[in-house]
Amino acid sequence: MGVEVILGIFFKGDDNFRVSANPIKKMFTPYRRRAMVPPWASREMLATVFDRFLNLGAPEEASGFAGRVRAAQIAAVRRYTPWMMIANIANALLVTVCFFGTPYLPAIALWATVVILVAAFALIRAWPKLTEPARATASKRGIRRSVIHALILGGIWAVLPGFFALGDMEQRAIVAAVVAGMLCGSGFALATIAPAAIAFAGMLALGSTMAVVLAPGFTTMALLALNSIYIAVIMVSALSLARTLRERIEAQIRSEEQRDYISLLLSDFEEHGSDWLWMIDHRGRVQHVSSRLTEKLHKPEAELIDRRALACLPLPPRTARSEDERRQLTVLMRAIKARQTFRDLELTVEIDGWPQRWALTAKPIFGLDGHFEGYRGIGRNVTEASVARRRMEHLARFDVLTGLANRATLMDHLESGFSRVRRKGGGFALLLIDLDHFKAINDTQGHPVGDELLVEAARRLQALVGDTDLVARLGGDEFAIIMDGEVEPERVGAMASRAIRALAHPFELSAGVVAQTGASIGIAAAEAGGDPTALIRHADLALYRAKHGGRNRFAFFEPAFEASAQRRHRLERDLRDALDAGILELAFQPIADATTLRISSCEALVRWTHPQFGPVSPAEFVAIAEESGLIGRLGKFVVEAACRAALAWPDHVRVAVNLSPVEFRSPALFACVRHALEVTGLAPDRLELEITESLFLEQGGHVDATLSALRRLGVRIALDDFGVGYSSLSYLRRYQFDKLKIDRSFVQGLADGPQSPAIIAAVVAMAGNLETAIAAEGVETAQQLETLRSLGCGLIQGYFIGRPMPADAITTNLWQTLDRPQSGAA
Ligand code: C2E
Ligand code: CA
Ligand code: CA
Repeated sequence: MGVEVILGIFFKGDDNFRVSANPIKKMFTPYRRRAMVPPWASREMLATVFDRFLNLGAPEEASGFAGRVRAAQIAAVRRYTPWMMIANIANALLVTVCFFGTPYLPAIALWATVVILVAAFALIRAWPKLTEPARATASKRGIRRSVIHALILGGIWAVLPGFFALGDMEQRAIVAAVVAGMLCGSGFALATIAPAAIAFAGMLALGSTMAVVLAPGFTTMALLALNSIYIAVIMVSALSLARTLRERIEAQIRSEEQRDYISLLLSDFEEHGSDWLWMIDHRGRVQHVSSRLTEKLHKPEAELIDRRALACLPLPPRTARSEDERRQLTVLMRAIKARQTFRDLELTVEIDGWPQRWALTAKPIFGLDGHFEGYRGIGRNVTEASVARRRMEHLARFDVLTGLANRATLMDHLESGFSRVRRKGGGFALLLIDLDHFKAINDTQGHPVGDELLVEAARRLQALVGDTDLVARLGGDEFAIIMDGEVEPERVGAMASRAIRALAHPFELSAGVVAQTGASIGIAAAEAGGDPTALIRHADLALYRAKHGGRNRFAFFEPAFEASAQRRHRLERDLRDALDAGILELAFQPIADATTLRISSCEALVRWTHPQFGPVSPAEFVAIAEESGLIGRLGKFVVEAACRAALAWPDHVRVAVNLSPVEFRSPALFACVRHALEVTGLAPDRLELEITESLFLEQGGHVDATLSALRRLGVRIALDDFGVGYSSLSYLRRYQFDKLKIDRSFVQGLADGPQSPAIIAAVVAMAGNLETAIAAEGVETAQQLETLRSLGCGLIQGYFIGRPMPADAITTNLWQTLDRPQSGAA
C-alpha cells in the first residue's frame, strides 16, 4: 500500500513504530500526546473514536475472519499502489509544467519534488511486492498504518488547492481537474480500506476549503461544491464498496476454508481409504483416477487419462457377460446419459482374471451456466460384501441341504402365481409331498443318511419336474411342486403318480444302506379368488386324506375336507376334556373257540359318546389322539381299565387290548403296561396286546426291544388285521406271535369266490407250523363260522358270537349263555 510505503521513509520500514526505538517515532510520540488530546476531550474518548473510525466497514473482530479480511483489504490496496504512485508523479509533473513562467514555480516545484520523491520511493518499495504472495492475515495495526499513510499523502495533496488561488483560469482549471482526479483515483484505489479512503478524501476536502478561503468567488465556491459532492460520493461508495468487498472476501475465505478442508479429506481418503475417486468429462473421458485404481488396473495414470471411461473399466469380455452384467452396464450408461446422480451402482469387473464387484457412486457436475461438465464420483470394491449378501440372499431363498427353493420362495411363487391368475386367468396346482417313514429311517440310520435320502429325493423330484415348474422343500420330509398351467386333473394326477413312483424306488445311500420310502401327495388347485395360505391349507388337507387313505397315494382337495378338518379340531379339543373328565368307556367283544364256542378272551374296544356328535368311532378318535399326542393317556386308561375288568372274569378268559403303532413306538409303553399289571394284579399271561402290521414298516430298534421286553414280562402278542395292507410275511418268521387275527375283509369275502378261502387256508397252514393261534374277525353268520371251522381256523370273533358290550354285560350274562355251543349272536 502506497501510504504505508511512504511512511516507510520516516520509519525506515519498521513495521511497528510504536514499540520501535526509532528516533523519529520518539520525536513523534510526545507530539502526538500533546497535539491529539484537546482539553475538552479525554484521551480514552479520542482513542475510542479513532478506533471506531478505523473499524469502519471492517468485520467484527469476533467473527474470526477479521485478520484474513484485513489482509485481503490491504492486499487489494497494495495492488493499485504502483499505478497510483505513477499517477501521483505524473500529476505533480503536470501541475509543475503548467505553472512554468509564474513566480510560484519554485514553490510548486518544491511541492512537486516532495510528491515525486515520496511517490517514487513508494513505487520502488511497492513494485517488487506486486509479485509477492499476499499475507494470510493482518493485524489492525496494518489498517491503522494505511489510514495514517493516507492522511499523510492526502495532506501533501491538500497543499495543491492552495496554489489554486495563485493561478490564472487555465492553471485553476488544471489544478481543479488534478485535485478532482486525485480525489477520485485515490479514493477508489483505497476504497477497500474505507477509513483510509475517507482520510485521504477528507484531507483533500480540507485543502479545497482552504482554496475557497484564499480565493473567494463563484467559481471557487462552485468547484468546492462539486468537490464536496465527489467527496461525499467517495465516502459513501468507499463504505459500501468496503462492505461488498468484505462480504466477498468473507465468502471467499469461507469457501477456501471449505475447499481446504475438503481437499484435505479427499487426499486423506485417496491415501488411506480403500475406495477411489474418479472424474470424467462431458465426453465421458477419464480426467482423474486415484492411484489406488491405477494400481488395481496395472496401468499407469497416463494411459487412463483422456480415454473413454467405459474402455478403462475392466469389464468381462463382451461375449462372456451374463444377463445380469449386461443389465448393470445398461443401467450405468442410462444414468450417465440422463446426467443422473447414481449411488452404489454395482458392476461386475474382472481383475487379474477374478470377478469383482464394484459399487460406483457419482454426481454430475454442471458449470455456472448450467452446461454438463462431466461426472465426479467414488468407486468401491464391494466383492466381499456382495458375495456375503448373495450368500444371505441365497440362504434366504433356498434350502441349504437340497438346494431346492425354500418355503419363503414357494410363498413368493404362489403370491405371484395368484396375481397372474387374477390378471390373465389360467391356473396352477400345488402338490404337497410327504415322504413316508422318513422319520424312522432318520432315527435308525442316523441323520447323515437321512440327509442323503432327502438330497436324492429332491434330485428325483427336480428331474421329474424339469425347469418349468418349481420344486421346493418346506422342511423335514415335506416337499412341494407348483405346476403351472390349467389344472387338468389327469395331467396333475399323472404328475403326482410319477412323483410317487419316483420316490418309491429304493434309495441306495452311502455305507451300503438301502432305504425304502414312499410318498403321499395332497393336491390343490389355485382359484382366482384364493390366496397362498388357503391354497397350502387345501393341499395340506388333501395330503392328510392321502396319508390316511393308505400311503403312496395322492388326493385332490375337496371342500368337504374343510368340514372334516374342523370336526377333527373340535374332537381333539373335546377328547382332551373327555380324558380329563374320565368319561371314556370300554366295551368288550368276546372271542370264542370255533368248535366249542367257549369264550377264550375278550377284546377291549374303547367307546366315547360325544355330548354333541353322539358315539364317535375309535377308528376316528384314536387317529386324532395319535396326531395330538393324547394317545399315551388314552392307552394308559384302556390298558388299566381292561386289566381291571378282566379281574372279574374267569381265570381262563384273557383280555385283548389294541395298541396303535404310534402308541407302541412310544418309549413309555413298556412301563405303562407293567404298571397296569402291577396296580391291577392281573396275571401277565392274561393280557394280550394287539398290534398291526404297519408297526413293522416304520420299525426301529426299539420296536424289537419293546416286543421282547413285553414277552419276557409274560404278556401275549397278537397280530391284528392280518392280511391287509403290506402283505409281507417276513416278519411272521422274525417274530413269534401268540395269535394271528385274520382281517374281517377275508371273512366277508368267503362267499365271493375261492380267493379268500385259499388265503385263509394258507395262513392257517403257516400258523400251524409257527404254533400260532388263528382267529377270524367279523364273523357274522353261522355259514361263515362253518366255513372257517372247516378251513381249520381255531378262534372266531364277530357279531355272530357277540357284539362289543359293556363290561358288566359280559360278567352278568355272557359266561352263562355264550359258554354253551348252541347260543347265537348277541
Ligand atoms: P379292530 O381292532 O379291528 O377292532 C374290531 C372292530 O371290528 C371293532 O370296531 C368292532 O366293533 C368291529 N367288529 C367286531 N365284530 C364285527 C362284525 O361281526 N362285523 C363288523 N362289521 N364289525 C365288527 P370298533 O370298535 O369301531 O373299533 C375300530 C378300531 O379302532 C379297532 O379295530 C381298533 O383298531 C381301534 N380301537 C378300538 N379300541 C381301541 C383302543 O382302545 N386302543 C386302540 N389303540 N385302538 C382301538
Ligand atoms: Ca383289534
Ligand atoms: Ca382287527
